[in-house]
Amino acid sequence: MKPSLILINPWIYDFSAYDLWSKPFGLLCLAGWLRESGFNIHFIDCLDIHHPDMTENSSLKPPKRHLYGTGKFWREVVPKPSPLQDIPRPYSRYGLLPEVFEQELRKIRKPSAILITALMTYWYPGVMEAIRLAKRVHPGVPVILGGIYARLCHEHAVINSGADSVVSGHGKASLLAALDEYGIRLPGNRPDLRSLAYPAFDLLTEIDYVCMMTSSGCPYRCQYCASHFLQPERVKRDPDEVLEEIVFWHQDFAVQDFAFYDDALLVAPGNHAGLLFEGLARLNLNLRFHTPNALHVREITGEISRLLHRTGFRTIRLGLETSDLSLHRDLDNKLSGGDFERAMHNLLEAGFDTRQIGAYILIGLPGQTVDSVIETINFAGANAAIPYLSEYSPIPHTPLWEKAVACSEHDLSSEPLFHNNTLLPCWDEAKKKELLRLKRLVSEIRERYR
Ligand code: SF4
Repeated sequence: MKPSLILINPWIYDFSAYDLWSKPFGLLCLAGWLRESGFNIHFIDCLDIHHPDMTENSSLKPPKRHLYGTGKFWREVVPKPSPLQDIPRPYSRYGLLPEVFEQELRKIRKPSAILITALMTYWYPGVMEAIRLAKRVHPGVPVILGGIYARLCHEHAVINSGADSVVSGHGKASLLAALDEYGIRLPGNRPDLRSLAYPAFDLLTEIDYVCMMTSSGCPYRCQYCASHFLQPERVKRDPDEVLEEIVFWHQDFAVQDFAFYDDALLVAPGNHAGLLFEGLARLNLNLRFHTPNALHVREITGEISRLLHRTGFRTIRLGLETSDLSLHRDLDNKLSGGDFERAMHNLLEAGFDTRQIGAYILIGLPGQTVDSVIETINFAGANAAIPYLSEYSPIPHTPLWEKAVACSEHDLSSEPLFHNNTLLPCWDEAKKKELLRLKRLVSEIRERYR
């Protein structure tokens, strides 16, 4: 009999959460590869909105779902952890009821190991809870924690998570080393670390959409972003292989919505993503594509805009961040004067509707003024883009981290819960009070283009 592994995507514990094409992509990729390597995989997605035991028996209100597979999660209000006691908002566990999660754990009698991922650093309460229950149901089975929180806050995770092993490295080799500590080897032949098995979306209860990556890593070095720390190398996939994968999900699983997770989808598109889009446009499969990770504004030429439109892109998000060019020079160097206006002109000319184009605007950066955010919101609106406020979350191992720690009233270094962007942890009380006004301004612009 094949040895079994349980892979867990844990709950989100937060003030808010939304499924904007959010799937544990790294864990699904590992699941695909481990399955191909000979393991029996039991995948538990705590954020599963289709789990039959939730839809049939749950005392919770069913989550509202929206266009293209996005929507809300199951949600239950839970007590706030003590560092967040003073925040006047309800705090929730998003995802399956714990008893449903426990039933899932019991479906495998004797797993060789339990692998769990962790995304945002301030979601660690969900990770700890999942580990606690996994250990209760399967005492003595090694629990291995990986993912973004494990890498960015390694020491915190080692001390607090309850995992037997916390993986700090990147990729399959780190996981193999962790499994090896417990005498667990791949059942098949020699492991092929370069093999790109498809992410195991078929292990989910239902596939609302599939997330894709044509490349990993990013050539930019924005001061507020951990992309370079997490993925130092830029690796591109063969566009023909990506095309084949998209066709596979569409033909075998009737998937219509695809979300690109690339950090730099359009960087040098001519010999890469552009080829993929040309191929997709030729096939004319009536698919819908979305870019929840922002596209680089500079790369939105007339030609690319027309190609995106022809390919079937329905959701375009642009990384505007700020209209203050001096702030761009200090922080990311990814936008110069006229770039955004040009990009918007090209997208609209190509046939996109304003309602399909959103501009992410960073808010809550150390030293950023409220006026600068207001100007940026108005700038986006004046150029016919829908503004989306993106609250800054301080991230360890980024160039801006030290400045964030120095200006925050919270102890960011020792408590990851304070990285939560809902707190606007690098703004003072006077600025935070303006948040409502900023949100109102955003709503007015949205209303204008509805
Ligand atoms: S362009 Fe995006 S992914 Fe790349 S470093 Fe900047 S914020 Fe990160």
